Amino acid sequence: MSGTGKVYLVGAGPGDLGLVTSRAYDLVASCEVLVHDNLVNPDLLEKVSPDCERIDVGKQPGRHAVPQEEIAELLVSKAQEGKIVVRLKGGDPFVFGRGGEEMTVLEEAGLSYEIVPGVTAALGCAAYAGIPLTHRDHGSSISFLTGHEDVAKEALRVDFGKFAAAGGTLCVYMGMGKLEQIVDELAAGGLKGNTPAVVVQQGTLPTQTKVVSNLGKLTQDVQDAGLVAPSIIFVGNAVGLSRDDDWFSSRPLFGKRIVVTRARAQAVELKSLLEQEGAEVLELPLIQVVSEVDKQIASEVFAGLGTYEWIVFTSVNGASKFFDLFLRGFKDLRSLGPARLACVGASTAEVLERLHLQVDLVPDKATAENLAKALIDTESLDSANVLVVTGNRNRDILVEMLDSVGHAIVDLLQVYATDFTNLGDVPEATRFRREGADAIVFASSSAVDSYVEQEDELRLDEAARRPIHCSIGPATSRSLRDNELSVDLEAPKASLSAMVESLVQHFGNLQ
Ligand code: SAH
Repeated sequence: MSGTGKVYLVGAGPGDLGLVTSRAYDLVASCEVLVHDNLVNPDLLEKVSPDCERIDVGKQPGRHAVPQEEIAELLVSKAQEGKIVVRLKGGDPFVFGRGGEEMTVLEEAGLSYEIVPGVTAALGCAAYAGIPLTHRDHGSSISFLTGHEDVAKEALRVDFGKFAAAGGTLCVYMGMGKLEQIVDELAAGGLKGNTPAVVVQQGTLPTQTKVVSNLGKLTQDVQDAGLVAPSIIFVGNAVGLSRDDDWFSSRPLFGKRIVVTRARAQAVELKSLLEQEGAEVLELPLIQVVSEVDKQIASEVFAGLGTYEWIVFTSVNGASKFFDLFLRGFKDLRSLGPARLACVGASTAEVLERLHLQVDLVPDKATAENLAKALIDTESLDSANVLVVTGNRNRDILVEMLDSVGHAIVDLLQVYATDFTNLGDVPEATRFRREGADAIVFASSSAVDSYVEQEDELRLDEAARRPIHCSIGPATSRSLRDNELSVDLEAPKASLSAMVESLVQHFGNLQ
């Protein structure tokens, strides 16, 4: 037995990644074994290192949760192998999380452990649904109670009547399966029918839903709204200060499901911008971008960098991959030489600006034609050496125009290839087919092409929401139209923030 193993019982918070403590982040990113439940945000699970062993012990459709004794055994045996183990639980490990039992088992096994608290669901849901839990005038105590979700299980363990008599704010976990009984017992304990009550489902997540009601109407209202687990039930006078239009659900894109079609690595920024506005983001990476460069051509181009009058970047990927290559070969940015720099649009220019390079030319509209025209208009390109940095799917029009209209001498450097992703069995594609979305954002013509090619895999069910098509700029819009798809929204400027702003305006106006 190796003595270096250790178990961390870690709270992952109620759902929103922003509520994960930095301690929890660090441990998830560095552990060797991650044992988690299904209430943990899947995006957090993505933070593990590639060689971390991930073990899901939560309940899944068609599969029971792993029994508690087995989980405890697993933690012990992994730690005894000398592993750093993170046992990640929704909310806080010591609040209805069986953290107490696990701690005892670890102690008995003589293993070293630490406990990392998390934001428990009641606190997260209350904050994100605008429900004060205490108030000078309306409530001076809080109780966390469990109702037991499983209807088949024994009678309620908690004496709800006593808590009704004690007053204050009651927060009931796992209570949805026995809601009616809980309400009856609270009423029998003396709580009036007009006592404020709120149920919050999937709190702190973009899918958060709530029902603001009172004890007398709660069961019916919850049933009408179709709320199910995971939900927290709040009862008490302070709860009466919550409103339907709380801060969280009044954000402009709240309740909207927006599909992001960029390659995974690039979807991050768009996803986070959309989430800040309240949207639920579904990632369907229709394309994947891989580095692909002819070494011979690249070394010739890099050897002759000083001879170009212009270096032209036609996409964000092109710019990023070019500078990855360049910085691997050169230590000094000045090796780029005296060339002027042109970019097809604002996002591409941002890649250069992040390196503190001044971009000399960005056309008004982000298309290859406009970029070519703008270059030709600057001055005579006659016999000028121009380097065009591209991917495998860029249209030839830019090079043709620079060559035949501008009479430039054009060198082409392809630095990446865009492949279509096969969405066949991707869970996000299944969800898209079943539920649809409110909008789908295309950030490139290749994403449109891949979407069209995978029409069958992405065909929406009858009941699914039909998304509007949003395009990042004129070139992508043209690809949509060429494929007989509507363009419902086009960003005024080829940048992610402009795209998000148009979506906010669009859905804001509809409300
Ligand atoms: N340890 C967890 C609780 C686990 S018990 C914590 O501290 O939060 C599981 C119950 O927690 C669910 O049945 C539900 O009542 C509640 N819960 C967890 N996440 C929730 C969420 N995002 N929204 C509403 N309720 C949630």
